[in-house]
Amino acid sequence: MGKKQRTFMDKIAKGTGARGEECPVCQSVIRNIKIVRAVRNETSGSWRFVETVEKVCKCNEKELLG
Ligand SMILES: [Zn+2]
Repeated sequence: MGKKQRTFMDKIAKGTGARGEECPVCQSVIRNIKIVRAVRNETSGSWRFVETVEKVCKCNEKELLG
């Protein structure tokens, strides 16, 4: 009973991916980071800001975070 329960908890911990998710390429922990982008409206020429949530690891942190 106890053994079965532990296996079940292990599956939960590995399956959610909400925290501690690792990038298979760089092995670093993937973080969800909110990035605000300035997007220009071609028609009106005005700028607006769009918030996006990006998954950031060492592979793309430089290009995303500058
Ligand atoms: Zn990576």
